[in-house]
Amino acid sequence: MTTVAAEPMLRLRDLAAGYGARWAISGVDLDLPAGRLVGVIGPNGSGKSTLLRAILGLVPRRHGTVTMAGGPLDRRRVAYVPQRELVDWSFPISAAQVVLMGRYPRIGPVAGAGGDDRRAVADALERVGMSDLGDRQIGSLSGGQQQRVFLARALVQGADVLLLDEPMTGVDRGTEEAITALMRQLRDGGATVVYATHDLETAADVSDLLCFVNGGVVAFGPPDETFTPHTLHATFGGELVIVDAGDHAHVHGGGHHDAGGGAATR
Ligand code: ADP
Ligand code: MG
Repeated sequence: MTTVAAEPMLRLRDLAAGYGARWAISGVDLDLPAGRLVGVIGPNGSGKSTLLRAILGLVPRRHGTVTMAGGPLDRRRVAYVPQRELVDWSFPISAAQVVLMGRYPRIGPVAGAGGDDRRAVADALERVGMSDLGDRQIGSLSGGQQQRVFLARALVQGADVLLLDEPMTGVDRGTEEAITALMRQLRDGGATVVYATHDLETAADVSDLLCFVNGGVVAFGPPDETFTPHTLHATFGGELVIVDAGDHAHVHGGGHHDAGGGAATR
């Protein structure tokens, strides 16, 4: 009998995706294991959002493949929380209804939501500290509260893969800590948690694996192997001031790259 090596939760091979004639990311090879917290970092316009969306097929894939546990991607098992700007906040639904959407893959078109679904929604809202705000219109909540609601939706979905696009951008300190704690819980439960950020210091502290992106993958691995002056320079170019380039690079800046450029063209 032969032993078959465990398949990674997500396997990306030579993935390319973009808009119109332009490829925003290309040549992406990644194996994302179960039970790991993966920080995707790079400056604005480097392709972080495109990478997350290409995994789901929300951006046209120009090339390459994405497999899940060795088979085709099952979108019901993937929870995606878009970047704040990509959400229509005027949509007239409550926070609890947004969370309930995470149950839709289970709720048949005929059955409608039942007691189990309502309990799952209430539990998830409690876990993200939003029990009192379930009836509020989603657009009336603060940015941090909206992120918590989207995380609650991901919780009720019970997904194996979470793709979170800049969940900590523009939220208060308490929400940042709550999001970090939830991402760790989900990771400890065996999920693959992938989140995009341009906050280098937090990413290095929080993530099991870092994926540096700039038009493609610049480096991928544990923070102590990848968070190097060389990788930082290759990813962020001259935008960073490296204060102390010893074993650990201390950095300032990043994240204010003109969106039109992209990595490959600089
Ligand atoms: P990031 O999330 O790292 O800021 P994006 O993935 O949003 O980067 O963008 C990567 C590149 O693709 C940028 O050059 C950006 O201008 C371009 N881009 C992003 N979204 C679109 C779009 N909807 N149409 C055309 N170009 C886009
Ligand atoms: Mg983005």
